[in-house]
Amino acid sequence: MRVITTISDLKAAIKAEKSQQKTIGFVPTMGYLHEGHKALLKKAREENQVVVLSIFVNPLQFGPNEDLESYPRDFEQDQKVAQEEGVDIIFHPSVTEMYPNELSVTMKVKKRTDVLCGESRPGHFDGVATVVSKLFHLVQPDKAYFGKKDAQQLAVIEGLVNDFNFPLQIVPVDTVREHDGLAKSSRNVYLSEKERAEAPALYRSLLDAVNRIKAGEVNPERIVQVISDRIQTETSGQIDYVSILTYPDLEKVEVVQGNFIMALAVKFSKARLIDNVILVEE
Ligand code: AMP
Repeated sequence: MRVITTISDLKAAIKAEKSQQKTIGFVPTMGYLHEGHKALLKKAREENQVVVLSIFVNPLQFGPNEDLESYPRDFEQDQKVAQEEGVDIIFHPSVTEMYPNELSVTMKVKKRTDVLCGESRPGHFDGVATVVSKLFHLVQPDKAYFGKKDAQQLAVIEGLVNDFNFPLQIVPVDTVREHDGLAKSSRNVYLSEKERAEAPALYRSLLDAVNRIKAGEVNPERIVQVISDRIQTETSGQIDYVSILTYPDLEKVEVVQGNFIMALAVKFSKARLIDNVILVEE
């Protein structure tokens, strides 16, 4: 496994792999790797000859009052995980390596961003689309792996790849959860003991809603209400949003049917958690 920190070294390494016609699987992350990231890496390892992992906490996707400074980092541990998962190249650039000058062009995501996290995090998905575009150009992967945990991000990236004809395939990966259902997240370490005990209610409330839908409930407002009530009763967190939208277009639904997503974000004292369930018609 090679650790690469400069764009020039990465370009040389990718060129060498490409010259041998090797397929490249790419897993972009912000590090502090957990089982969720590992699931992406495992899939990438199975499906490609070369696996590239990027670890970069991208300032462009953090708002002024967000947790850029305090975002958890542990590069030593991440290297161990990467080694265990059979990663070939870790790309771990500094902020100045990625953005030596103020960018003259950035991405502006126009669809799928005025809802869910996009609503409370203006500019977030522009920052994601900008860094992902740069990384796709540098790594030139055949396949890139993204978690369904960040379903809106996945929808935005799919839009980006389609609109700009990136020659690669996006592979969605199911959300990996703790034994009690809480979606694995680097930010879970910032939950107090009490909040950690409450947090599984987020997923439980989504599963409860799935059961109601399966039993015939089609009114999105009523379902949102049931989810919200449960979170308010069972946690000390503050609801940022609970929404039911079409997937992947993320448009409003009048009647719950077809392909849709139920998604939520809840703020605890030091961590904002997101989770979702995507239901696809068979
Ligand atoms: P992050 O480091 O949080 O930016 O995440 C990097 C990638 O890992 C993204 O594609 C995430 O969707 C994915 N990911 C994060 N948490 C999970 C999880 N619990 N299950 C599956 N994928 C995840």
